[in-house]
Amino acid sequence: YTILAIESSCDETSAAVCINGKIQSNIIATQTVHQKYGGVVPELASRAHQQHIIPVVNQAITEAKITKNDLHAVAFTRGPGLLGALLVGSSFAKALALGLKIPLIGVNHMQAHILAHFIDDPAPRFPFLCLTVSGGHTQIVKVNDYLDMQIIGETQDDAVGEAFDKTAKLLDLPYPGGPLIDKYAQSGDPKAFTFPNVDMPGLSFSFSGIKTSFMYFLRDKTLQRSDFIQNNLPDICASIQHTLIQILMKKLVKASKETGIQEIAIAGGVSANSGLRKQLTETGALYNWKVYIPKFEYCTDNAAMIAMAAHYKALAGQFASQDVTPLPRMDF
Ligand code: ATP
Ligand code: MG
Ligand code: FE
Repeated sequence: YTILAIESSCDETSAAVCINGKIQSNIIATQTVHQKYGGVVPELASRAHQQHIIPVVNQAITEAKITKNDLHAVAFTRGPGLLGALLVGSSFAKALALGLKIPLIGVNHMQAHILAHFIDDPAPRFPFLCLTVSGGHTQIVKVNDYLDMQIIGETQDDAVGEAFDKTAKLLDLPYPGGPLIDKYAQSGDPKAFTFPNVDMPGLSFSFSGIKTSFMYFLRDKTLQRSDFIQNNLPDICASIQHTLIQILMKKLVKASKETGIQEIAIAGGVSANSGLRKQLTETGALYNWKVYIPKFEYCTDNAAMIAMAAHYKALAGQFASQDVTPLPRMDF
C-alpha cells in the first residue's frame, strides 16, 4: 500500500512516500523568505508552498523509485496550521487524488508529530506519554493507541517554541531562534542567571511570564552595560534554555507520577533541542523511564510523519471525502 503524504501547515513544504508503513522518501523545502521579518508571514508562506509543492512532490516520487500510478492514496495535513498554507496542500492532494481516482487521507499535524516515533524502531509501547513541544503547541499527551490520544496538559498561553523564538529575537538572533539558543547554550553556564516564573496548576504550562521577565532582565542589564548581550551570550542562552527545560520536565515528572506511565516520548520541533534531549535521558534514568527521542530530521515539520499517521488511518479505514476542508484549529 503506497501513500504520498504532503505537509504544508506552516513554513516547510514537504512530501514523503511510504510503502506499507516504511518511509521511502522525505523531501523538505524550508522557506527562507520569512527570515527578514523575524517570523512566519502567512501570505508569503502560502505563495512559497504554491511554488514548492510540484517540485517537492516530484522529487519525493522519484526518490521513492515509483510513479504516480503506483499510488494507492494521497494524504495531507488537514490542521492545525495556517489556513492559507493548509489550503495549498489540501487542494493539491484533492486534485491529485481525483485525477488518479484514489482515496484521500486527512491527517492531524500534532498527532503526526507523535506518530513520527513509529517511523523507526524501537517504537514506544502503549500507553505512553508524549511531551509535544513545537512552534505552536506545548502538550502532554496520553497515547493509548495509534489514533487514540488524549491531551492531559497543555499551555495556557505561548508555546515553548515560541518562547525560544521570542527570547532569541530579544537577543537580536535571526528567526527561528530556537536552534541558535541551543547552539550558544552549549558553551554557557545554565546557572549563570535565573528568571522568575509562576508555577501553573496541574499539568498546565505558561510561557508568557518568562518571556516578560526575560525582557525586563535584558533591559536592566543593558542599561548597566550596553555590551551585556555581546559579552554574555552563551550564559544568557544556557540560562534561558535551562529555565524552559526545567518547566517542561517538572510537569512531565508530575504526569508520569499521576498516570503511572513510564514510557516517555518527546516530539515536535523543540524536541530537537540538545539540552532537552540530554535532560530527558538524565531524568529518565532517575525515574526508571524508558525514553524515546526522535531522530533530528523527524522533530521539525516533515511529511514522513504525515505519511506514518496516514498509514495507520488507512489501516483503520479512515479516509476523507472530496469536500473535506482544512482546519486551522483542530483537536484529536
Ligand atoms: P506546530 O507543530 O505547533 O504546528 P510548527 O509546526 O511551526 O508548530 P515545528 O516545526 O514542529 O513547529 O517546530 C518549530 C519550532 O521548533 C520553532 O519554534 C523552533 O525554534 C523550534 N526548534 C527547532 N529546533 C530547536 C532547537 N534545537 N532548540 C530549541 N528549539 C528548536
Ligand atoms: Mg517551521
Ligand atoms: Fe509542527
